[in-house]
Amino acid sequence: MPQNNGRVSMRLRRLITLSVVGALLIGTAGVLGLPKILSDQAANLPETIQTIADQVQAKPVTIFDPPKHSIDEADSIWVVVNKHRQISPLKYQPTNLVFPTLPKPKVQNPFGLQLREEAALATEEMAAALSEEGIGTLILNSGFRTYKNQQGLYNRTRDTRGLAVAEKLSARPGHSEHQLGLAADFSVKGQGCVIMVCFGNTEAGRWIAENAHEYGFVLRYPKGYKPITGFQYEPWHFRYVGVELATEMKTNGIKTLEEFWGLDAAPDYLAPAG
Ligand SMILES: [Zn+2]
Repeated sequence: MPQNNGRVSMRLRRLITLSVVGALLIGTAGVLGLPKILSDQAANLPETIQTIADQVQAKPVTIFDPPKHSIDEADSIWVVVNKHRQISPLKYQPTNLVFPTLPKPKVQNPFGLQLREEAALATEEMAAALSEEGIGTLILNSGFRTYKNQQGLYNRTRDTRGLAVAEKLSARPGHSEHQLGLAADFSVKGQGCVIMVCFGNTEAGRWIAENAHEYGFVLRYPKGYKPITGFQYEPWHFRYVGVELATEMKTNGIKTLEEFWGLDAAPDYLAPAG
């Protein structure tokens, strides 16, 4: 019995020792903050989710990133055409060409020009606003041009004024926004400077430059941007890109499509004239 008692007491002592050690360990862990770490992790969980949500919000998904419309396809209202980016296919012709409905078609569209439907509608709206504001009667001096029209224009300029002038003033066929049906050259009745740099200083020229974005147009060849666009200042040439993009560019003070989309500057053609 004493042996047995001794064994029991030994077991008891071991048990007590283990319990004490265990209690001490738990206690120490408590002091060292182990349960605190666990509880902090639990507390941090919603915070982590919130951080991820914040990060997602920090990089907003907008209509521009990725672009809602292609900047490469000729049918897209956001297509970028310049001296580095020719229209594809080269002889592209839009399918939805219409004559803009203007109150005085003989005055306002003297050459019977067409534009793509979206651009025609924008022209109608801008003409109405221009008239309502008492600025004058909008005239469409140039609209859609076929590849062949553009080729004729370029060749005539080259043959009469030389290659250097043609390269400077007239886009090569397949490189003109007019071939897209999305570009319009505007003037305003009685204000002169038709297709001239001085149009930018007329009341109408200033009004259009200031307000065109509300109708979806951008002044495509602004003053001082020839190293980027490849063309000198053309205060009469407006490109339809839609209200969203035109307004975004205006609001952020971004003057060219090349800068907006982070594209190469296109001061010259990649291949020599041939
Ligand atoms: Zn033009």
